[in-house]
Amino acid sequence: MATIRQKAYQDVLNRTPKHIDFDGKISELYGQNVFHSEVMREYLPSDAFKSMMESIQNGTRLDRKMADQVASAMKDWALTKGATHYTHWFQPLTGSTAEKHDAFFKPVGPGKAIERFDGDLLVQQEPDASSFPNGGIRNTFEARGYTAWDPSSPAFVIGKTLCIPTIFISYTGESLDYKMPLLKALHVVDQAAVEVCQYFDKNVTKVNATLGWEQEYFLIDQALFNARPDLMMTGRALFGHAPAKGQQLEDHYFGSIPERVNAFMREFETESLKLGIPVTTRHNEVAPNQFECAPIFEECNLANDHNLLLMDLMEKIARKHDFRVLLHEKPFSGVNGSGKHNNWSLSTNTGVNLLAPGKNPKSNLQFLTFFVNTIKAIHDYDDVLRACIASAGNDHRLGANEAPPAIISAFIGSQLSGLLDDIEKNVKAGKMTPEDKTELKLNIGKIPQIMLDNTDRNRTSPFAFTGNKFEFRAVGSSANCASAMIVLNTIMAKQLKDFKKSVDDRIAKGEAKDEAILKELQKLIKESKKIRFEGNGYGDEWVKDAEKRGLKNLKDTPRALQVWGDKKVVKLFDDMNVLTPRELEARKEIEFENYILKLQIEARIMGDVVNSMIIPAVVEYQNTLIKNVQGLIDVLGSKAGKEAANIQIELIQRISIHLNKMKATADAMLMERKAANKLSHAEDKAFAYCDKVRIHFDEIRYHADKLEMLVDDELWPMPKFREMLFTR
Ligand code: ADP
Ligand code: MG
Repeated sequence: MATIRQKAYQDVLNRTPKHIDFDGKISELYGQNVFHSEVMREYLPSDAFKSMMESIQNGTRLDRKMADQVASAMKDWALTKGATHYTHWFQPLTGSTAEKHDAFFKPVGPGKAIERFDGDLLVQQEPDASSFPNGGIRNTFEARGYTAWDPSSPAFVIGKTLCIPTIFISYTGESLDYKMPLLKALHVVDQAAVEVCQYFDKNVTKVNATLGWEQEYFLIDQALFNARPDLMMTGRALFGHAPAKGQQLEDHYFGSIPERVNAFMREFETESLKLGIPVTTRHNEVAPNQFECAPIFEECNLANDHNLLLMDLMEKIARKHDFRVLLHEKPFSGVNGSGKHNNWSLSTNTGVNLLAPGKNPKSNLQFLTFFVNTIKAIHDYDDVLRACIASAGNDHRLGANEAPPAIISAFIGSQLSGLLDDIEKNVKAGKMTPEDKTELKLNIGKIPQIMLDNTDRNRTSPFAFTGNKFEFRAVGSSANCASAMIVLNTIMAKQLKDFKKSVDDRIAKGEAKDEAILKELQKLIKESKKIRFEGNGYGDEWVKDAEKRGLKNLKDTPRALQVWGDKKVVKLFDDMNVLTPRELEARKEIEFENYILKLQIEARIMGDVVNSMIIPAVVEYQNTLIKNVQGLIDVLGSKAGKEAANIQIELIQRISIHLNKMKATADAMLMERKAANKLSHAEDKAFAYCDKVRIHFDEIRYHADKLEMLVDDELWPMPKFREMLFTR
């Protein structure tokens, strides 16, 4: 009888690429299913169109009449796209997106019905959302949370449903999602950045944070996926011996994309383009069966919606091609994990990228201002940055020789390091002479617009300047980017506000504007020096050096999450009006809960697989060996038989040793799990899962993987790494 694994493998060998090709020009697809401004212009009366634009750009509220007109236009447009239903699309703290569909259809008399959608339905909904995490903010039996329209992100049609991006809040107005605090963080960084821009250019009235994410993922055949309970339930392989060939040849990286994968990519890119997601780049990643896709950067809130949509699309379309997408940060130990680099910058309504060096000393001083303030913000809030990327999955990736360590630092390249050192040394304490100023300005004026030494990119840094933006590389592949973007934009806003105040104080005391700015920058450069690191972030040396510098190395999620309870952090989010203390407390609770749930499931699956899959296969093989030994003894007699069965006997013993150790450790883990489950506080429980339950995983796996190598290949129940990683 063939094992599930063998049947699955046969399926894979019989697959062929499913080309679902689009023959026309791809550019014609772009934004086809989006209710974007050009469609609005066509469908809306001009006063409604103006209010809508105003609302998109400045966040002003639409009045009831306008909302009715927008709703009606949206519905008319959606009907032309074949939509029958609409949904408020939102981002609860579970990590994925949620939707509840309602029909446009409304009966109005016997045998008569109309398609209806008005402002009320557009603006606000009350989904029965009692089972989304709320960290104690909302009583589960009082299921009232509601969703509210976010006009700054356009509605779109997927399949037959009109999707309306919304925020998700409790009845009492607290945020229960990622979008609401993100919008608030974007608002406050806009305000703070505009004020600082006023030193340089009075025409700046709006600053947008921009986000360009790069999504890494693995693809594995659906049949193999279904034969692995660990992948199905946890998204990562909890067992599996490393294959003889891993990624050491690096022959997958930028190699040609396999045919079946290419067919999948083409389809999901086509669908992404229709939804206005500007995907342009696709390539193989370092690990076998690992890939990356990256769109052109966009305004942060929109870019984030697009990332969530893309993850969803990828999963749906992968199934059509008999693949499963693994978005987990570390699906396969021994090969690289997946990240989601967040490229971030700030851009003005006048078309200036504030993190790109300019053409003259004045624009370069503006660049330096934003650049140095970013570094200072990272320095002051490195622990918050660490916390916002913490997850059970990312714990396996950070610091695992392929991703930045859990220590937050910033890389800026040798040219800019030199310039910052120069400013640190040469800005005089007293009043600056005109010569001092000229010399500094000359140096600042010399910043090249294209920074050569950034082409060699320090890929080992968690937060790197890459010439015209910062790249936050520590973000996990399955994360909602909002988590990182809420923090980054909030700490930047706080820093810019502090900077503005200090510079204004200096000016009030009689310093000239440029001098005041330079002196303040010098101070920030000095204060934030320890966060700058240009060396190899993957080396052990750095861990020691960082410790000497006083930088934290928080290796696991529970330790990283504790920072949400710090007074300084609570005050930061409260002062910046991004999250109230109650909201932050709820989030902390939810993140601990999420961590516990993930580990709890992993621990259970480990126990199940050991008991119901591995042990039976191992015992079956051992019985074959025992029968063979017994047979030899029967035929040859006890002494000669035992001699002849030497190797088999040794194998039986080795198998028993691993079997016993694996089972004993699994039982010990079970006891710890039971003890952990009795703890009532989420934080205590998370620590127990981390320090007492999780520590057994490696030991259990070690013995299971040894057994995988000893047991007859025909009997092994689960697809092996070589099958999952190298078959297409
Ligand atoms: P690569 O890293 O492959 O050399 P780029 O440096 O051009 O490519 O860009 C990497 C990512 O950074 C892309 O997703 C791109 O859209 C994004 N990006 C470029 N400029 C900005 C910016 N000003 N703000 C945010 N993201 C940006
Ligand atoms: Mg990158």
